[in-house]
Amino acid sequence: MRVFSIPLRTPFRGITVREGVLLQGPAGWGEWSPFLEYDASTARPWLAAAEEAAAGDWPEPLRNEVPVNVTVPACDPERAHEIVRAGGCATAKVKVAERGQTLADDQARLEAVRDALGPTGLVRIDANGGWDVDGAVRAITVLDRAAGGLEYVEQPVAAVEDLAVVRRRVEVRIAADESIRRADDPYLVRDLEAADIAVLKVQPLGGVRACLRIAEDIGLPVVVSSAVESSVGIAAGVALAAALPELPHACGLATVQLLTDDVAVEPLLPVGGMLPVRTPQVDAAALERLAAPADRVAHWEQRLADVKEQG
Ligand SMILES: [Mg+2]
Repeated sequence: MRVFSIPLRTPFRGITVREGVLLQGPAGWGEWSPFLEYDASTARPWLAAAEEAAAGDWPEPLRNEVPVNVTVPACDPERAHEIVRAGGCATAKVKVAERGQTLADDQARLEAVRDALGPTGLVRIDANGGWDVDGAVRAITVLDRAAGGLEYVEQPVAAVEDLAVVRRRVEVRIAADESIRRADDPYLVRDLEAADIAVLKVQPLGGVRACLRIAEDIGLPVVVSSAVESSVGIAAGVALAAALPELPHACGLATVQLLTDDVAVEPLLPVGGMLPVRTPQVDAAALERLAAPADRVAHWEQRLADVKEQG
């Protein structure tokens, strides 16, 4: 087990450093990087995903590359423009409804993104549940216009019941993320007809095979996204995207570029808006360079023990 600590280029979820564990198994490495505030039971499926990867227990890929979006944080319009231009992707995912910002901030960011992307690119937004129902309906109308049309809006409101209400009040398609990966019952999204698209993340949902089962049972088009992992964790998302019978939307897996460094010899970064389907080779020198300090290693060892004990 190796504990890594990689600084982020821009703060994300209030953190500036991404920490996690690489576990080695018979088939290679798996990443276990539940967010620091998660308790043992929340972190349990993340461990199952790492163990599946280390055991080499992934399904056969059906494609050899997967389309990805560039991710734009809740930054100013100039920075958003730069990120989209540098990303080289045909789809942009833009964070909106950030605490402390206004709808006008989101509007300006989306106008800049559309300008950088050109008329044919696709723009999706992610509010991380930051609006209430009426606020979401109003914001989606404004932002759909600012973006020159939205591909979809991800998790405009937090509660799955509200998601279903918003979906009936707007034309733009709705994607569910937290309503699947943080829910006691991910299938409420299906039962309430609360979304048009399911966002699936491999670690929180317990692995590639677990996600494939959810994809089949939930009966919605899937967008595979990351939890801002190193290339080892991203490879699991790529394996899921490669194994899905249909992949109609770009995936949110181009997030290694949000980190300042990576553990792989060849990081999983997009070329021409696509990620290759391959398992990255872990770089021994990078593991040394990115090794977490001793107190953080002790923290992760304890955390791993707690999760295993809870079993
Ligand atoms: Mg999301």
